Amino acid sequence: MKLALVGIGKIALDQHLPALKSSPDWDLAATVSRRGTVDGVEAFTDLTTMLEARSDIGAVSLCLPPVPRFDAAQAVLRAGRHLMLEKPPGATLAEVHALCNLARAQGVTIYATWHSRMAMAVGAARDWLAGRTVQEGRITWREDVRKWHPGQDWIFEAGGMGVFDPGINALSILTEILPQPVRLLSADLDYPANRQAPIAARLQFSQNIAADFDFRQQGPQTWDMEFRTDGGRMALRMGGNRLEIDGRPVQGGDDIMGEYPALYARMAALVAAGESDADLAPMVLVADAFTLGRRNIVADFHF
Ligand code: NAP
Repeated sequence: MKLALVGIGKIALDQHLPALKSSPDWDLAATVSRRGTVDGVEAFTDLTTMLEARSDIGAVSLCLPPVPRFDAAQAVLRAGRHLMLEKPPGATLAEVHALCNLARAQGVTIYATWHSRMAMAVGAARDWLAGRTVQEGRITWREDVRKWHPGQDWIFEAGGMGVFDPGINALSILTEILPQPVRLLSADLDYPANRQAPIAARLQFSQNIAADFDFRQQGPQTWDMEFRTDGGRMALRMGGNRLEIDGRPVQGGDDIMGEYPALYARMAALVAAGESDADLAPMVLVADAFTLGRRNIVADFHF
């Protein structure tokens, strides 16, 4: 199937292109980007022009940040093409509901991806937790925004989500593996004085689960989740790629390059089956953190 990639920025180059190159399902037939191009692939600078010129392209994958994404997503669906969305699927919950309704009306697939759910050990962690009761959980998601989002000022603008841009990856795993859904009880959000989105957050959930998100981590990066249950201890490390049971490694490794190939395989399966997948549970928790969160002002942040 032919697919167009829109927004040739960091994640498109780091993950989408390698995944598409090795995909048995997808043929990258066009790009849409104001600046970026891909060797050997027809390049457009405007989405509407691409949709009109290439009626042979049946699916579009959007790699734009969340705020500018809605208009592009709507245009793709109105043109009757299948739609794949980077995480988080939109800037607001309402706009993603609107896209889902539009996809249904148009009879096309919408896939709101959560790449961290495709990490190597997430399925095994879900299976291990099934039938156990979580007594305590601790999520530590600390990374360096300068490394993963160099110069991306949009991430600290309203709608950019700040530290919830990576934090929502942890929440996408949490909402996938827990046998019972959590709800947010409280949140503390640290806003740099010169920015509109938080650089750190501490969250308390039901089931005695706490999360610590921080965008200022230097040196080694931490993407860990640890749980104590009525049937032993479990930890997911490296963003869901390594599973430990009672302190012993049992599955996975450090390779994160399998996540995006798995997303594109899932997109192909959804299109073939005429289905959609848009689970908003991780985004609901983020919206609740912004609703309930106490605001602390911290030092200015500059890239
Ligand atoms: P990015 O490089 O800053 O932006 C991606 C592309 O979006 C840019 O190349 C640009 O396209 C377009 N764009 C940026 N700002 C725009 C605006 N205001 N209006 C219209 N288009 C705009 O961001 P990214 O890191 O690739 O992140 C994109 C999405 O991927 C985010 O939702 C992020 O959460 C997700 N993601 C990122 C990472 C990561 O490590 N960075 C990992 C996983 C998921 P053109 O200039 O090419 O037109």
